[in-house]
Amino acid sequence: MVNKDISFVIQNDVSKKFIECLSPINSYLAPDYISVFKTDTITECMRRILYRVNSAKPDVPYDILKNLTKEEISNKWIHYIKKCKEIRHSDGKHIVTDCNFNLMGHIDCVVTMDDISYALNVFSVDPELFDARNASRKHVVQMTLDMWLASKNNGLILYENKLTNEYKVYNITFYQPIINSAVEKCKKMIEFKLKGKMCSRPYKTKDSNECSICEFKSTCWVKGD
Ligand code: SF4
Repeated sequence: MVNKDISFVIQNDVSKKFIECLSPINSYLAPDYISVFKTDTITECMRRILYRVNSAKPDVPYDILKNLTKEEISNKWIHYIKKCKEIRHSDGKHIVTDCNFNLMGHIDCVVTMDDISYALNVFSVDPELFDARNASRKHVVQMTLDMWLASKNNGLILYENKLTNEYKVYNITFYQPIINSAVEKCKKMIEFKLKGKMCSRPYKTKDSNECSICEFKSTCWVKGD
């Protein structure tokens, strides 16, 4: 049974001291840190991201099961990597953030090989992407941002073919221009959010690749702005 007496929880000098210690935070926090921009969707349409930030109703509900499956696949790989003798697994799955730009990402694990450490993320991908010559731009941007947030200069993208379980690995070295453009996008989105405004559509018609899969398509193209 839960004890309803919570008199042991009090605001005291310790609380005050902690708040004092936190006060410099206001000088470097983004003006709106209620919602965050995720590194895995930063390449998507700014308007689409702002719909999510504003909790707009999507055309169809998010597929939660799909996310859980992604999570399970990355856990499988982390367990496997831990057993590999040549790889030192130094840090587990963790969230990485930057409070200046409301940016949040994640690292599946940090591994060290030949004294070089790498941030590693696992992606379960369709066979078409798996067979392509390179990783997708979206994943490279996400990984570069996650590396930046985790203060790592080297990264690894592990692709698992979701149909065959074959895998391949791409090595990523840090590329500053990706950070600069993502940060500019976050700054603009924060400005729109603070002004309570929506940005214009980056696409001329609703037949663009991104619009055709966007969960806000009906809301977006009905309104005449
Ligand atoms: S429908 Fe197209 S323009 Fe509108 S939010 Fe979605 S991706 Fe952006």
